Amino acid sequence: MHCQVLHIHPAVLKTIPYTNEKKKVTPVIIGDPTGHITLSVWTDIHEEQLPVEKDKVFKLENLSFKNWNGGQLSSTKSSVYTSVNQKLKVNKPNIEATSMYQTLQGVFVTVESTTVSLCIACNSREPSPSTHFYKCKVCNCKQLVSNMKKNTDLKGKFKPLDDSPLIHLSLNNHQLTWLPDTDVNNIDDLEEQLLQTSMTITYNKVNNYVETTSPIDSV
Ligand SMILES: [Zn+2]
Repeated sequence: MHCQVLHIHPAVLKTIPYTNEKKKVTPVIIGDPTGHITLSVWTDIHEEQLPVEKDKVFKLENLSFKNWNGGQLSSTKSSVYTSVNQKLKVNKPNIEATSMYQTLQGVFVTVESTTVSLCIACNSREPSPSTHFYKCKVCNCKQLVSNMKKNTDLKGKFKPLDDSPLIHLSLNNHQLTWLPDTDVNNIDDLEEQLLQTSMTITYNKVNNYVETTSPIDSV
């Protein structure tokens, strides 16, 4: 199909279950004369260059389609992107209204933390297991609960700089790698640092989950 690239959102980092491999996903809004759709472009985390460019028309081959959330296209290992010199009649959608991602600047005004257990083999999340021995529902690995990895989930109210209403968001401490000397065992310090840091976040509007965070340099 031939599509014009209408908008490119900031990339988000994803961890592939089972392999634990990190990948970069860039949500790209593409359109043709019949409408528009989000294409998730998967790339290597070290890859700087996207295979598509804003406003250009591309011939796209070997994409996969998922029929959830109104339909989503995703790149595959065999996807081919060919730039074509062609004009398309495309109605530009309201990007903010159609995208599942939103980027905001602001600061967390409350933070609460909860500890979750993760399977040692596949990293899938488990609600606190009540027995001493646990069988993972995802990979079937059996493990002692005391051996399971612990991870901290953070929830909080985020106040946008533009004074729009507070938003309830969840985030994972893995997205806070820019915090200096963060000791995850010391949740009080982590919370305190979060409450003092103005940051740019990109969050998923479907599940209110923060995908990326970066501090705003106060000069
Ligand atoms: Zn598992």
